[in-house]
Amino acid sequence: MRELQREIGLWQDKVFPDVSLEGLTMHLREEVEEMEEAAFAAYDSLMSHSDPLVLEVHEHFRHELADVAIMLLGIANHFDVDLQRCVEDKMKINYARKWVTDVDGVIRHSESKKLEGRL
Ligand SMILES: [Mg+2]
Repeated sequence: MRELQREIGLWQDKVFPDVSLEGLTMHLREEVEEMEEAAFAAYDSLMSHSDPLVLEVHEHFRHELADVAIMLLGIANHFDVDLQRCVEDKMKINYARKWVTDVDGVIRHSESKKLEGRL
């Protein structure tokens, strides 16, 4: 992941040299929305079994997943933060947490403030 982040950072510096933090975070939000839409379309397509567009829909989902990852790695690079290290450090915390499902089906760690009154 470090090498990929470095590559994306070099590309980003060349193609979007003056990008702002606001521009980056807004773009990430848009890409997350596109990925969410593509994920539901891919799920629906897979469940239909006979959908002739299933491969195309899945490929679109893969591209949208990649867009989210590219934006995330780009933001990490913008701050000169090693995203792989961030994920490794945070997973150590996540492994030690207890996880519960709230009434909306969202899985949260048991100390989450968002969970209060939602079980
Ligand atoms: Mg996209």
